[in-house]
Amino acid sequence: MAPLRCGGMGTRPPLAVLIAGGGVAALEAALALRDLAGDLVSLRILAPNGDFGYRPLSVREPFAHAKAARYSLSELAASAGAELIEGEFAYLEADRRVAITASGDELPYDALLLGLGARTKDAFPHVTTIDAGHMDELLHGLVQDVEDGYARSVAFASPARQGWSLPLYELALMTAARAHDMGVAVELTVVTPEASPLAFFGERASQAVATLLDEAGVGVIAGVDAHVPEAGELLLMPGGRTLNASRIVALPELFGPAVRGLPTGEHGFIPVDGNGRVRGVEDVWAAGDATDCPVKFGGLAAQQADVAAASIAAAAGADVATPSDQPEIHAILLTGREPRYLSARLVGGKGFDGELTKEPTWQPVAKVNARYLTAYLDEATPLAAGPG
Ligand SMILES: Cc1cc2nc3c(=O)[nH]c(=O)nc-3n(C[C@H](O)[C@H](O)[C@H](O)COP(=O)(O)OP(=O)(O)OC[C@H]3O[C@@H](n4cnc5c(N)ncnc54)[C@H](O)[C@@H]3O)c2cc1C
Repeated sequence: MAPLRCGGMGTRPPLAVLIAGGGVAALEAALALRDLAGDLVSLRILAPNGDFGYRPLSVREPFAHAKAARYSLSELAASAGAELIEGEFAYLEADRRVAITASGDELPYDALLLGLGARTKDAFPHVTTIDAGHMDELLHGLVQDVEDGYARSVAFASPARQGWSLPLYELALMTAARAHDMGVAVELTVVTPEASPLAFFGERASQAVATLLDEAGVGVIAGVDAHVPEAGELLLMPGGRTLNASRIVALPELFGPAVRGLPTGEHGFIPVDGNGRVRGVEDVWAAGDATDCPVKFGGLAAQQADVAAASIAAAAGADVATPSDQPEIHAILLTGREPRYLSARLVGGKGFDGELTKEPTWQPVAKVNARYLTAYLDEATPLAAGPG
């Protein structure tokens, strides 16, 4: 959408927007802002990483797929007309409208958008906790042990506070497909606090996921709080039932960045309103996993970024339409066979009208559904695969 200028043409300096982060939310916001606000904004991206890794495809790495693609941040920044500053955001002096970096530099802003992602912490001892940066190293041996018949049972466990649940189901389904292909019997179980598998996509979609798991031979124990008192043993509460497994793969627990100088919500997440504005402080927005939205998902992070970008663009004087406050979430569920496609409307952190289909119901189809970032990545050339 072409930006429309308001008021004294050419006399108003561009709104200085600082975006902290180099992930889905930050990059989507940068691309969206350039499109929505044109030269009404100047953009700077502060990120510690020089590249952007396409995390969702890392789940395939232990199954002899190539490493997930990485893209140059400087190229993306250039295409958004943004200056890339390599560094780490440390804290905020909101009354002076200054962000302070870890190395002590002061970065002034008119509008600050935080896309800092979530912090991860191992939720259980004695388990393999997934880390998208090291998926192959972490899980290749386990897949091999399943193939060779050494690992007779694998549990895929989520901590009590739900985080990135999709990859846990994908790993279970892909392990099941691999075991089937190798003619190996293995007991696979997903253990989750959700009432049913991928419950945030709504009841109908969740039922369909449950059927898919059942057909693949993956058991589900839902609605439980898991503990790991010793290696190979899960204690499930309430009830105190024990589940033994040769190996346990787990999701990490997620925390917010607990930014000094900002109000902090539960577990360090940043409280935001419907426009992505950080509650209780002026000229600061946040989007993605760092916020207090209960669902942590790339496609949602991107939509939050689009909403925040529209709000900042409006503050810069652009005439922008207000994005819907009922985001639609879409996911590709990798299964080790044909993928499945999940869609739902998200209202108040809950999915409605969800469905699981054999063909995608949205376009363009991408693992992380992001209006601007998907289009950019479709055209971009990934960086050459490095050693690590
Ligand atoms: C294995 C796996 C599979 C997944 N699969 C899917 C999927 O299929 N579909 C989907 O939609 N989602 C998926 N997700 C979830 C998705 O990756 C996240 O929800 C999404 O990346 C969140 O985007 P974000 O920008 O909020 O955070 P991130 O993408 O985590 O980005 C945060 C950024 O902030 C930077 N940063 C951190 N601290 C600072 C600081 N102090 N200063 C400056 N920058 C900082 C980080 O370096 C990073 O660049 C998956 C997640 C995992 C782990």
